Amino acid sequence: MQLGALDDLVMPTYKPRPVTFVSGHGATLVAATGDAYLDMVAGIAVASTGHAHPKIAEAIANQASRLVHTSNLYGTEPQLALAERLAAISGGMLSFFANSGAEAIECALKLTRKWAGPDRSTIVATQGSFHGRTFGALAATGQPGKQAAFQPMVPGFVHVPYGDADAIAAVLDSGVAAVLLEPIQGEAGVIVPPAGYLTAVRNLCDEAGALLILDEVQTGLGRTGYWLAAEHEGVKADIVCLAKALGGGLPIGACLAQPPIAAAFAPGDHGTTFGGGPVQCAAALATLDVIEDESLLERSTVGGDRLASGLDALGMGSVRGRGLMVALELDEPVAGKVAAAALERRVLVNDATPTALRFVPPLVITDEEIDRAVAVVGESIDAI
Ligand code: PLP
Repeated sequence: MQLGALDDLVMPTYKPRPVTFVSGHGATLVAATGDAYLDMVAGIAVASTGHAHPKIAEAIANQASRLVHTSNLYGTEPQLALAERLAAISGGMLSFFANSGAEAIECALKLTRKWAGPDRSTIVATQGSFHGRTFGALAATGQPGKQAAFQPMVPGFVHVPYGDADAIAAVLDSGVAAVLLEPIQGEAGVIVPPAGYLTAVRNLCDEAGALLILDEVQTGLGRTGYWLAAEHEGVKADIVCLAKALGGGLPIGACLAQPPIAAAFAPGDHGTTFGGGPVQCAAALATLDVIEDESLLERSTVGGDRLASGLDALGMGSVRGRGLMVALELDEPVAGKVAAAALERRVLVNDATPTALRFVPPLVITDEEIDRAVAVVGESIDAI
């Protein structure tokens, strides 16, 4: 098999892939050449429990040998157990299981429309945000460059500057059904809003009778040191979207809603063939177990501090983030070149923007691996 031919056989939606991986363990990925790479990307904040975790592999294999698919016409034990687990994590929210982050967002948008009715259809989102590539999620995304070629967008979205509660207050009128935010903007380059922002937005939504939808697709499930990043401010959303880390690498998303809001949906309003399938749910349950058993919330905080202070000590740019969701903002637009230089040194880092290197490694990463990544980033910046 010609592994290098992949880019000739799939649609040109991704940049040419520089390396082909065949296996992984912990924070290491092994290429077809046999070379080992230190993974500071984790499939973009997905492989929080590390690659090929034996407990997750076992849960997937066990479930696959019992039952893989039933459709949502019928119940399965793993879906019930996962819904119970997410209710416990979220303080009693009800789940809709999807297959991706974008689909979790689509569910949130449709639920909001159904809850609010046709006279109250505006959703306030933020500039620079990223919510996915399907049409609703793309319209919610505050990046005109990603929308330009696909106009017209789904109507009903207003975008305001991120981190500015006054900007939200200025547009919150009786036509607004919800405010949709990432607690930390991920794809924009790990933009952390000012302290008190989420609390202020929560209060504004309460005063206006609008919903607060938090997109925790990237920040959720331990990435920032809490199950949900909104816990840093003790804020409870009306709707929360999860995906990425949830399935330990298998495709699963979840839209969680407070029960009175979820009650706006009736049978037939929304659905998906594959969402919440037994194998994905078994993988998610095992993933949540590993996060708990291996104290990965604490590890995210401690490892994140080490990573941030290591990058800061390089003196090569400013560092921001929370837990193991960190960015190094460079003084010049060379993040792509630095990422390429790090790849040559067998460390994977992501250039989220032309100036920002993003680090979202597996939460199981060791101190030694963090130090190695920091050293390679320093060498790579020196080299370009
Ligand atoms: N929301 C956020 C905050 C994301 O970071 C992403 C993906 O990067 C999405 C939604 C979309 O998720 P998916 O790629 O699984 O559709």
